[in-house]
Parts: sequence; structure tokens; C-alpha cells
Amino acid sequence: MTRESMDYDVVIVGGGPSGLAAAIRLKQLAASEHREVSVCLLEKGAEIGAHILSGAVIDPKGLSELIPDWQAQGAPLDTPVTEDRFMVLTTDKAYRIPNALLPRLMDNHGNYIASLGNVCRWLGTQAEALGVEIYPGFAAAEVLFDERGAVAGVATGDVGIAKDGSHKPDYQPGMELRAKYTLFAEGCRGSLSQELMKRFNLRDGVDPQKYGIGLKELWQVEPSRHRKGLVVHSQGWPLDSRTGGGSFLYHYGENLVAVGFVVHLNYENPHLSPYDEFQRFKTHPAIRDTFAGGKRLAYGARAINEGGLQSVPKLAFPGGALVGCAAGFLNVPRIKGSHNAMKTGMLAAEAAFAALGTGRAHDALDDYDASWRTSWVYADLWKVRNVKPGLKWGMWAGTIHGGFHMWMNDLGLGALVPWTLRHGKPDSETLKPAARCRASTIRNTTARSRSTSSRRCSCRTRTTKRTSRRT
Ligand SMILES: Cc1cc2nc3c(=O)[nH]c(=O)nc-3n(C[C@H](O)[C@H](O)[C@H](O)COP(=O)(O)OP(=O)(O)OC[C@H]3O[C@@H](n4cnc5c(N)ncnc54)[C@H](O)[C@@H]3O)c2cc1C
Repeated sequence: MTRESMDYDVVIVGGGPSGLAAAIRLKQLAASEHREVSVCLLEKGAEIGAHILSGAVIDPKGLSELIPDWQAQGAPLDTPVTEDRFMVLTTDKAYRIPNALLPRLMDNHGNYIASLGNVCRWLGTQAEALGVEIYPGFAAAEVLFDERGAVAGVATGDVGIAKDGSHKPDYQPGMELRAKYTLFAEGCRGSLSQELMKRFNLRDGVDPQKYGIGLKELWQVEPSRHRKGLVVHSQGWPLDSRTGGGSFLYHYGENLVAVGFVVHLNYENPHLSPYDEFQRFKTHPAIRDTFAGGKRLAYGARAINEGGLQSVPKLAFPGGALVGCAAGFLNVPRIKGSHNAMKTGMLAAEAAFAALGTGRAHDALDDYDASWRTSWVYADLWKVRNVKPGLKWGMWAGTIHGGFHMWMNDLGLGALVPWTLRHGKPDSETLKPAARCRASTIRNTTARSRSTSSRRCSCRTRTTKRTSRRT
């Protein structure tokens, strides 16, 4: 059975901040120059925003460039950050780092706490109003190539295939969405993006991408425990000094708290369970009261790019480009990527629009590869480039080095710290053999119990416990 095919100027794979920003920018440019540009956006989630982890602190820089009057247009960013706290946790103590000691770029004043899923839903309505065709519930499963090897679009997957590969009565072949340019906005470690990086050697000459796992929960808390606009970050317990990661709590909306925990995936002990560490973190004396009497409304986990500047691949290839976290523009110490995702989506859209205007198609959008390097996205990642690789010296030395580096950049003295640390091996090579590390003995205990059971690795000692309280 042959597949049906539809033709567009631009197809966008993924309806997160980067894909939606690209779609909106294309249509804005087309409207301003009275040109027709057909844009189709595929989103594998059942609806726009369905696969986005809620509760984020959003730097509105990208949004303000895309839709300057976003407030008047009703964008759902209604909790400005009012207070920042950064804590270092030990087993039973919390030490607050004075804000004056924190690098200025870690300051969240001017940012907004919001549901990133809702922001995407709102961006989706903006895109549709401009004429973008959005197809939620369709995953791009295959990249299409033309006879010269350039990307020519994507195809959605076939449905109705039996386990043995035969076609069931309801078999429907996938659909081909062909385009002059295809933008891949799949987010962190998107499957088609990974394939394209290999096929076009986009990672040649850059460091391996580094990853973390981010676990997040959305809680409705007791009104008396809610501090609207408060942003809390922590480092330390329950992770040991050789395991990178940290937590965040964002108070927003009507008694909502987004709580999350990120564990860097270059840890060594294969018995470590990021999920259990997250649950343990919530039992810390400085944290647990926030959730007393509260109710967990939603939860999820996602991979997060941590390689930063050193790991950004070449972005453009014949017929398309990578945008947002598909390429890896997340700023690790700020735990923010949506602003850079939006801006890179816009830059790719501008390059595609210019190319279409001169009758080009299926070639490389090299202007985009150049324009992001002169944009504020590059500056954002440049200032923090040594934070993640410095953690190879352990949490304390790495944090002091990273903090010093960020401060020097904040003070305009970046030229005095010109070095760029490299990321070593890929995360998949950092695990030690399980046999050389002691497995955890996770016991069910009550949430109030402070008893722990130890787990030891030849490389470090850890303690852990799992609470029995539902979270
Ligand atoms: C735990 C955690 C906390 C975070 N906190 C913050 C924060 O506070 N502030 C902040 O700014 N950023 C934060 N981020 C980062 C932020 O979520 C990302 O930087 C941002 O969402 C990247 O946007 P994107 O459009 O590139 O990708 P995504 O937001 O990941 O969107 C990709 C979309 O593409 C869809 N998709 C993927 N593959 C396909 C396919 N083949 N076909 C069709 N659709 C596809 C997905 O379903 C998804 O909707 C956090 C990330 C994590 C994991």
C-alpha cells in the first residue's frame, strides 16, 4: 500500500517551546512580507503540552522576542519570582548560601514560575491562529531523504501491525509529510535527531553530549505552607560529593509547588536509583514540611541535556536543522532551557524563511549555524561552560570552580578565565561494574524514621532509605 503524501514549505517535528517558536516565527515573517509559507507541526503527545513537564522557572527573554505583548495576549506566566533561596543540604541540616554570594546569572528575579505545558498549549493556539497546521497524536517515525541524500520530510508510523509483523485488518500506512526544510524540535535525545547526527556526522569535533535525569512532581500544598513566587534550589544530600545533581522547589499559582530532582547520569554506582534519591530528598527536615497535608497531583521524568556549549553539534544539514534541546541548549546551573529552545527555533525559522524567499530548498541552512553563535544563546552557554565539566573534581571543588567562573563572567572579567574544560567520556562509560559496587538495601520505613541502611561502592559510600509514605 502506498503512503499518502502532503507537501509543505516547512515541517516541524515536535511541539515543545522550540518547535512552536519556529512555527510562529515563520508565520509572523510570512505575514510581515505578505508571502505564503505553509507550515506543519507534528506532536506525538495527544495534545500540545501533553509531554512537557510542568512547573518551570521561565526566563521570558525568548518569549518577549517572539511575542512582545505576551502579557496582553494572556500568556499563562502569572507568578513572577519574588524570592530565591539556595541551600546546601547535609543529612539533617540545611545551610543557606547568602544571595549576595551567588553569581548574578543565578538570580531568578525577572523570571516567571509557570506550567511549561500550559505555556506550550498557549503557544499552540497562537501558532494555529497564524495558520500553522498542528497535528497532535502523530509521531514522526522516519526521516525521508531525496535522491541526493537531503532530508525531504518525515513519515508517521504505520498503525495496525501485528506482533509478527503482518498487517491487521485495521492496518493504515503512515503518512509522508514532505517539505523543503524540516526542523527537528524533538527535545532531549530525540530519536530522529540522533539518527541525523550520525548520518550527517553533526557531532564531529564536539564533546559527547552529557545527560541528567530530571524527576518532577506537582503538589497542591496547604495554603499556610505556600510562598507564591519562592524558588528554592539545593545541592548535597542525599547525593554524595561524587554524584552531581540537585533539587528545586517552585511555589506558584494557587498553592502549587513543583518539586524536582536532577541526577547527572555520569554516576558510577549502577545500584543508585535517582527516583529513590528524589523520594529521600523530600524527607529532609528542611523540605518535608512543605508537603505535609498536601496532595501530589502529577509526576513525570525526562532526560535533560547537560553538555552545554562544548556538546552543541553542527545544527544544519541538507534539508533541515536541529533546534532546542534536540541539539542541547540547556543551561545546566540555571536548569533552564526553554528560553534558548525558543530562540534557536526562531533563528532556524528566520534562516528557513530567507532561504525559501530566494527559491532554495533541501540545502543546508548554514546561516542558522552562524546566527546562533552571535546570539544571546551562545553568550548564555559560554558563561556557564565550565560548571558541569568542573564537577569531575567532586561537588565542592567543582562548585567553587564553577561559581568563581560564573562570577568572573558576571563581572565582565571573563577574559581572565579563558579556559574551556572538556567533557570526558560519554555517561554510558562512567558506570562501574555492578559486582564492584555494593547494592543498596532499601528498606521500607516510615517517613518520619531517620534510620538508614548503607550501600557501599568500591568508589564511595552511600546511605539510603525509601519512605513508605505515598508522595
Ligand atoms: C526536570 C526538568 C526541569 C526543567 N526545568 C526547567 C525550568 O525550570 N525552566 C526552563 O526554562 N527549562 C526547564 N527545563 C528544560 C526545558 O524543559 C527544555 O529546555 C525545553 O522544554 C526544551 O524545549 P524543546 O522544544 O527543545 O523540547 P521539548 O520541550 O522536550 O519538546 C519536544 C516535543 O517534541 C515532541 N516529540 C519528540 N519526538 C517527536 C517525534 N518524533 N514526533 C513528534 N513529536 C515528537 C515531544 O512530545 C515534545 O512535546 C527542565 C527540564 C527538565 C527535564
